[in-house]
This record gives sequence, structure tokens and C-alpha cells, in this order.
Amino acid sequence: MPETTFNPHEFKAQFPIFDQAENEKLIYVDNAATTQKPQAVIDRLTHFYLYENANAHRASHRLARAATDAIENSRKIIAGFINANDRDIVFCRGTTEGFNLLANGLASQCHAQEEIIITSAEHHANILPWRRLAEQRNMKIRLVPDIDGIPDLSQLASMLSDNTRIVSFTMASNVLGCKLNLESVAQLLKDHPCFYVIDAAQGLGHCPIDVDKLGCDFLVASAHKAYGPLGAGFVYGKQKVLSTLDPYLLGGEMVKSVTLDAAEFNKAPGRFEAGTMQLASIAGFGAAIEFLSQQDREGMHAHEVRLIQHIHKELSSLPAIQLISKPENNLGICTFNIKSDVIEATSGDLAQWLDEHDIAVRVGYHCAQPLYESRALQQGLRISVAGYNTFEDCDKVVRVIREWIDNIEESKTTTTPCSNSILESLQNAKNWQARYKMLMEFGQEERDESIQADDNIIHGCEAKTWLAGSQVDGKYQFITDSESRIIRGLGVLMKHWFNGKDADFIQNFDWETECQKLGLTRHLSASRNNGFRAMILTAQCSVVPTSSDSE
Ligand code: PLP
Repeated sequence: MPETTFNPHEFKAQFPIFDQAENEKLIYVDNAATTQKPQAVIDRLTHFYLYENANAHRASHRLARAATDAIENSRKIIAGFINANDRDIVFCRGTTEGFNLLANGLASQCHAQEEIIITSAEHHANILPWRRLAEQRNMKIRLVPDIDGIPDLSQLASMLSDNTRIVSFTMASNVLGCKLNLESVAQLLKDHPCFYVIDAAQGLGHCPIDVDKLGCDFLVASAHKAYGPLGAGFVYGKQKVLSTLDPYLLGGEMVKSVTLDAAEFNKAPGRFEAGTMQLASIAGFGAAIEFLSQQDREGMHAHEVRLIQHIHKELSSLPAIQLISKPENNLGICTFNIKSDVIEATSGDLAQWLDEHDIAVRVGYHCAQPLYESRALQQGLRISVAGYNTFEDCDKVVRVIREWIDNIEESKTTTTPCSNSILESLQNAKNWQARYKMLMEFGQEERDESIQADDNIIHGCEAKTWLAGSQVDGKYQFITDSESRIIRGLGVLMKHWFNGKDADFIQNFDWETECQKLGLTRHLSASRNNGFRAMILTAQCSVVPTSSDSE
């Protein structure tokens, strides 16, 4: 194996966001959502606005020529990077827009009963545009079967027929991290007159892409997941094939001649680039690809693989963690659930704890809900690495996860303080960590499944949360329940404030000041603050003041 020249510390030094004082300790492992941007890309964006800002492909003055050159230069760089011809690259805002462009553009070539084949591991961007196309053209969507969530492409051959019209696969899943072996797919499709599309959103920044070897008709990717700017992406397709597609966006600069009755559209790629494009981002996209090309990409890939294997190994030893992803053939993603039979807390609670320790992860369905539903999984927590992450980062992430688990385990044996001392205990906590731990303790036993009716659901809370209230002699009693333990803990606090009080007190209670005093506003994540706010407002709106009673 050749000696690697890739050094994550030197690589990281090229990303100025990590030099900002507030980010000194930041561990950014949300790279599958978007990567950070190197100085070279930031400089390229600035350069465009300082020296080249004009509209491209229109006027012939000096600045307009510079802007046009910038765009066409990016097109060449990106084409070279994926072994394509530069006229085969259509710029768009990103992968999502690329798929919409394709689904709309292909519609007139699709017919009733024809089939679109995707996998269950697709991002919504590679599902929803096809779903709408299928509805419009009365087509069917079929899913390649999976083994433990990982698409089993060996089943593809038996799914193909004369009805197969579109086959659209992700290069790598944004939940499982697994890289699909797409090289054999083109061979299987060669006797079927279908369009073969690849979603390279998760591939571009991590592995080499050769469209010639892949043999695909189209490939779509975003700049921002590969160290490039937000708002730029591309659709690759051979001119010959692209020219058979109807343009998705209609408007300026994509047309040769227009009358009120007819229009003659340009050839690709201009045919699909209507209106003023995000020119600076496209210039920056070229710079990002140049930057990537200058790295030891094999070394960087090997580094990312080692990191993700290490994280999987460490987390697999924790009984509270249920891994969703697998370390094998993984481009850099580890996703897991919290085992609810081992500890009573959600991945959202853990994400918040990590955020408090300056570790950025993502929690949710990651725009891949069918994957979660097919395996009946709760929202997952995703750690996704990039070249600037280190083994120290990964060890810290694992250590902080362990601490969180230990805290919860410990709190099982601690008893919740009686109602009078709730506020006192919170106020006397020595720091936010201790206060957070206390709220988690409050949430430990605080369950009441009897109120889990649709009518009691609190809207505006990310985790499912219920509230029911009753009134005797003008005094109110609330019951709360939530899937999130921290929200249950916050429910205890709210009940401490409101239970046994009358409507006037409840409605006039200055909870915002109280939350500030306890540091909740500052320390809780935005989603938990919103959830707590929704709970309080729902309770306040549900009570009827005595004055209006007597009217
Ligand atoms: N496809 C995959 C596999 C993704 O991971 C994403 C984004 O997370 C997308 C498509 C959509 O990309 P964008 O949001 O840049 O349009």
C-alpha cells in the first residue's frame, strides 16, 4: 500500500471556521449534511464579487466576459473530475433541483405501467420527484430488496423487464454510509431501454467518480457536501441524451427564438440553465473541485474509513446503542438509535447533550423516512466524518456519549425530589450540566400513557408530547407525557409552576424570565426550547380566566 501523504491536521488548517475563537473546541461531525468550506473556496467567492461580478452568457463587456469565463472554467474542472465532457455538465442549485430537472424533463418519455426502480435507502430527493412522475404518468415505483437495510443489487436483474423506464440509485446512503457497487449496474441495464440515474450527493466529496466507467445516463451532485459553496450543483448527462429532455425551468438565456406561439430551446447544457444562475457559487464549486483534486484523495478516503470503523467499534460495545449503519464499505457515516429498553431517553436528548459539549451531529430521519419505516426505527443520530476529523475527535464523541449514558444510568437510582424542592434543586445546581442531569432525573418516572390521545398532542414539539388539564374550584392540574425524557423533565417544571394555580396566575406567569434565570433559554437546544414553549403556551391557552367565566 503506498505511503499516505494525507494529514488531517494540515487539511483542517485550511478551514478558517475552525480558527474562530468560538469554534476552538468544535467537533463538527455533521458533514453528510454539509461540509465546512476551505479558504480557497471562500477566496474564490470573494474574488468573483470583487473582480468578475456581472451576468454570464449575456453581455460582451469585460466583466461579463470574466463572469462567463468563470462559469465555463468551473464546468471544465467539474467535467474533468468525473471524466465527462464539459458540455455534459448542467449547472443547477444542487442534487434536489437536479432530480426535479430530470423527473420533469423525462416525463414526456414515460408511459403508463412503466416502472421506476429505486432502493429503500434513497434520500427523499431521489424519491419524491419520481413519485410525482409516477402519479402523473400512471407508472409504478419498485424498491430493490435489502438485507438489513443495505440494498441487495444482486436482485436487480430479476426486477428488470420491458417496462423498466428509470433506474435511480444512490452512490452512498446518507443514513447507512454504505457505498453501493454500481459498476455492475450499467451492464445489467444495457439490454433495457431505460434511463440510469445516480445520486452522487454523498459520493462526490469522498470517492472517485468516473461516469464513463459507471455507464450512467445521468449523475447528480451538490457542491456543498464536497467542500464547495451552498447553492450549486450539477446534472451530468451526455449532450445527446440531455437534448431529448424537456427543459424544467423556462426563461431567459435557455432559448434560441421565442414568439408568443412557439419557442426553440437551446441545446444542452444552456437549455436547462434558465435565468440568472448562482454564478459565484458555481465559480466556488470549481475551486472546491480543484482543492479536492490537490489532496491525497486516496489517503483522505482511507483516513475517513478508519475513523468510521473506529467509531462503529467503540459504539458497538455500548449496550444502550443500536447501530443502524455498518462499518463495512462505509464512506464515513455512523447512524444509531438509543435502545429504549435499556435507557429511557431519545437520540434527540443525546444530540442536545452532544451540542452542549460542542459536538455537532444530526438527529432525525435524515430525509430517508422509507428506510426508517421499513425497519421500524426511531429517529436516528448520525455522526458523519470528513477529512478534517481526527481520532481525537472520534474518541471525544464516544467519551461524551458514554458520559451521557452513565448519567442516565446513575439517575435511575436517584429519587426525584418532592415537588416543593424542584425549583430549589434546579436553582441550586452548581452548573448547567448538573441542572440538565436533574431535568433528566425528573423525566425518569414521569410517564402517563393514558393521556396519549391525538387531542392531547402538543403541536410545535419535535418529540411527540401530550398535555391534559383539568380544573376543580378554579384550580388547574396538568398531566404531561413525552417521548423525550428531557421534555418530560421540563413538564415537571411546568407542572410545578402551574398545578394548583388559577387561570389568572397561569396566564400571567412570566415563564420566559424564569427560563432565563435557570439558563434554559441559553443552554437548551432551539428545538427543546421550542418544545417547552409550545407546552407552556398550550397550557396557558387551555385555561379560562375567572373574569371571563363570570361574563
Ligand atoms: N441525496 C443524498 C444521498 C443526500 O444525502 C442529499 C442531502 O443530504 C440529497 C440527495 C439532497 O442534496 P441537496 O440538499 O444538496 O439538494
